[in-house]
Amino acid sequence: MATRTLLCVPLVAKTVEEMLSDMAAAKAKGADLVEIRLDHLTAFNPQRDLDILLRDRPLPALVTYRPKWEGGEYEGDDEPRFEALQLAIQLGAEYVDIELKVAENFVNYISGQKPENFSLIVSSHNYQSTPSTEELGSLVARIQAVGADIVKIATTAVDIADVARMFQVIVHCQERQVPMIGLVMSERGVISRVLCPKFGGYLTFGTLDAGKTSAPGQPTISDLLNVYNIRQIGPDTKVFGIIGKPVGHSKSPILHNEAFKSIGFNAVYVPLLVDDLATFLSTYSSPDFAGFSCTIPHKEAAVVCCDEVDPIAKAIGAVNTIIKRPADGRLVGYNTDYVGAISAIEDGIRGFQLKDATVSPLAGKTFVVIGAGGAGKALAYGAKEKGAKVVIANRTYERAKELANLIGGHALTLAELENFHPEEGMILANTTSIGMQPRVNDTPLSKQALKSYALVFDAVYTPKVTRLLREAEESGAIVVSGLEMFIRQAMGQFELFTGLTAPESLMRHIVSSL
Ligand code: NAP
Repeated sequence: MATRTLLCVPLVAKTVEEMLSDMAAAKAKGADLVEIRLDHLTAFNPQRDLDILLRDRPLPALVTYRPKWEGGEYEGDDEPRFEALQLAIQLGAEYVDIELKVAENFVNYISGQKPENFSLIVSSHNYQSTPSTEELGSLVARIQAVGADIVKIATTAVDIADVARMFQVIVHCQERQVPMIGLVMSERGVISRVLCPKFGGYLTFGTLDAGKTSAPGQPTISDLLNVYNIRQIGPDTKVFGIIGKPVGHSKSPILHNEAFKSIGFNAVYVPLLVDDLATFLSTYSSPDFAGFSCTIPHKEAAVVCCDEVDPIAKAIGAVNTIIKRPADGRLVGYNTDYVGAISAIEDGIRGFQLKDATVSPLAGKTFVVIGAGGAGKALAYGAKEKGAKVVIANRTYERAKELANLIGGHALTLAELENFHPEEGMILANTTSIGMQPRVNDTPLSKQALKSYALVFDAVYTPKVTRLLREAEESGAIVVSGLEMFIRQAMGQFELFTGLTAPESLMRHIVSSL
């Protein structure tokens, strides 16, 4: 029963006129059907409004009249609700959704009368949690027993691992030819909405605009179609993603999905809001989940969770890329931040020339790193590897000292850094979040102190030109943006994910338009 997962736009406007225009917009954006949420209409008049909404509809319609007790807006008795839904069936709606709690009453109300091209969706919503696989299985059986043509279960993800149980149940239903909509609400459940076509979900919801959601965690239809390329997702599609907390702001899904698409690589890249890395990795252990980017706060934990860690990543103590090795399923950790940042700085010094010179232009130079976190460690280790004299300045001096001892460098407080100029032509790398949006007027070092530096790099890339970089340029330094590190670490990840050369010009083009 390999039917294509349908893409449904929920219509939650307050007036019929707005719903009609949203319906046209849904069609224009590529939806397969719309869900007409009657409970969102103020002053709803069933006879008049259903006739208008269903008469010349541009797309098939799923009609829902959700009561308050199941998370909707309708507050009245069931009788007028059933009457309106029955009318929708008579007017040709392709689907009606009824809640499991009253489904038997509704089926009796319509005397089991269903037109030929009509399907009854019986739904169950859990706004607190996601039950066990066994409980979900028995819920499916109860929904089927009341006469559902399509089973719909929506639960809530307390942890991203909860979604795996829903996937299992959908796959089981598909094997038994039971059409099922299985969605897990909240930001931790987003993959349930994107990966529907992989596991055989009957439909998924995509909103018209970010604000027009009918349930927590719904992506927009544009993101489903244009970022996640949902029409290309099938059972064999490999899943990659960015593990982080928070992760919603990440631009990596846009970048990697577009890059995958450009070379026809059958994979999708999703945001993974993960609380506990070890639980996530053991839950999604199948080869289908093939590789991950790792960001704050999981880069250090990733070193411990991987079966094998590349020696450089191990020395840095941070993994930003995890690959599930196809041959044996073992998790292998890498650090592409290090290569991305150091190569960007080297090319900055060389003026983007002589790329294959054998001696690093960092050799013998004083290289000051501000920050001693994940990015700080990567930069400090990388600079040391290239023969630089490394100095680490950090808000928490003890961490600077610790890192300096580890790599064989010198530690400073941030205050000491202001008057630190043992030589001219030094290199500076900010690896703290100082200056990042929204605090764009902050900077880690005064303009006066920047005079001693020949090159200044900032790991922060929102905004692209930070106050630090602006003032460094005004002081005559070469500047290297965090965006360059971002592009290069992403290219490194792409190559580890696919085994192929990264499409550099495309990736640069995407990043510059973000
Ligand atoms: P992290 O491990 O949490 O480390 C944060 C570092 O910043 C610590 O040294 C911390 O000092 C310092 N810090 C934070 N807030 C500060 C403040 N208000 N004043 C002074 N110091 C402060 O984070 P990370 O993974 O290294 O990331 C750091 C930055 O690099 C972020 O802005 C991130 O977006 C950026 N980054 C960019 C790329 C890229 O591709 N361009 C890649 C990775 C990271 P304490 O030790 O005192 O807490």
